[in-house]
Amino acid sequence: MIIEGIDAPSVFLIKWRGVDVATCYSVREVEEYKRRSLETNGNLDGITVEYRENTRPCSECGAFVTSTNPEVDFCRNCFYAGVGVSREHDALLASLRALPEVDAAEVWHTGGGCFMLAITLANARLLTCTVALSDPDYREGEWFCDASLPDHGEPWYAFEWESLEAHDAATETGEYEDAAVAHAPLSDSDLLNLCRERGV
Ligand SMILES: [Zn+2]
Repeated sequence: MIIEGIDAPSVFLIKWRGVDVATCYSVREVEEYKRRSLETNGNLDGITVEYRENTRPCSECGAFVTSTNPEVDFCRNCFYAGVGVSREHDALLASLRALPEVDAAEVWHTGGGCFMLAITLANARLLTCTVALSDPDYREGEWFCDASLPDHGEPWYAFEWESLEAHDAATETGEYEDAAVAHAPLSDSDLLNLCRERGV
């Protein structure tokens, strides 16, 4: 059922053969979705649109929370914007942003369910930070990183780059080895100290 003129916070769930494939927040978005599907598939077979009152608004933006985990109170868009993972590190982010040696500290979504903390220092150096892991069965006595943020209290793994440009160039070629200096494992206060040292 489509109700004209109703915008967020209520939602339109687009289904394909009964499975949720998209969430739209206005009639215009629904029409746009249909137009694109028609362009791609040549028809709208199997597609239905369901109107829902928003009984579970996102605590950040008011959109519809589609997570099946009842404890999640933010929407898919906010998830991809890093809201959930940022929240866990609210105190650290605030401390980082308060440092004169730090220009910006933000969570970047790096694809899929992957995030990293990017800290731009006052001298333009960049720290890209993710979780530090150790596993004696995998690499004895070595720390390595994963493409996600640590849970609160777990250690950080930081790569230090000359600049954002150096980071982007290495990401393109995949040649990290000499382009960045690794620091791990770091507690929250170690990370703050690293910023103080390297940001001047
Ligand atoms: Zn949201």
